[in-house]
Amino acid sequence: MNNKPACPPEAAPEQAWKEIDVAGANAAALEEIPPPILAKFKEVKLFLCDVDGVLTDGGIYMGEGRELKRFHVRDGLGLRLLQRQGIPVGWISHRPSEATAERARDLGVDFLIQKPERKRDAVEEILRRTELQWRDLCYMGDDVVDLGVLRRAGLAVTAPDGLAEAKQLADYVTRAPAGSGAVREAAELILRAQGKWASVIREYAD
Ligand SMILES: [Mg+2]
Repeated sequence: MNNKPACPPEAAPEQAWKEIDVAGANAAALEEIPPPILAKFKEVKLFLCDVDGVLTDGGIYMGEGRELKRFHVRDGLGLRLLQRQGIPVGWISHRPSEATAERARDLGVDFLIQKPERKRDAVEEILRRTELQWRDLCYMGDDVVDLGVLRRAGLAVTAPDGLAEAKQLADYVTRAPAGSGAVREAAELILRAQGKWASVIREYAD
């Protein structure tokens, strides 16, 4: 015989999912950027960057006829997110490298130019193909070969260990080091400034 006392029916579980305050996170991420620079982040329509010393820490592993580079997966996803929000991305390197080409293929970057020529000419070619202007461009570079482009880009960005002159020209110096999230930081700020980050968060948090 079952003498257990009758239990009240179990109450329906409370909705326990946490909410994400994207507007608050955006405000916190953008609060230290001066308004004239923030205005430049809002205008970006094309993102181009150098490879060595921006997407990598500048190190190259060499041996047995091959070279290896270390890329950061979060930088890669940052570039994909820019593309998915309608901002094409490209890499411009002075130094032809199969490791760079392999990573570019892996990510599906829109433009890859690896030529030991003036980077400004490479950028002008991409601007022609995209029918965009210098003011639409965010460019990220760290060394002397990038100065001509950093001078002209609507939004110039460099990494914390970038050349002193690159820092002079930069509208924004990332907190994250080159090869460890510097590109992701810039990409994320562009999307946050343009109000596109909320849809990224909504999609991934679903
Ligand atoms: Mg470089």
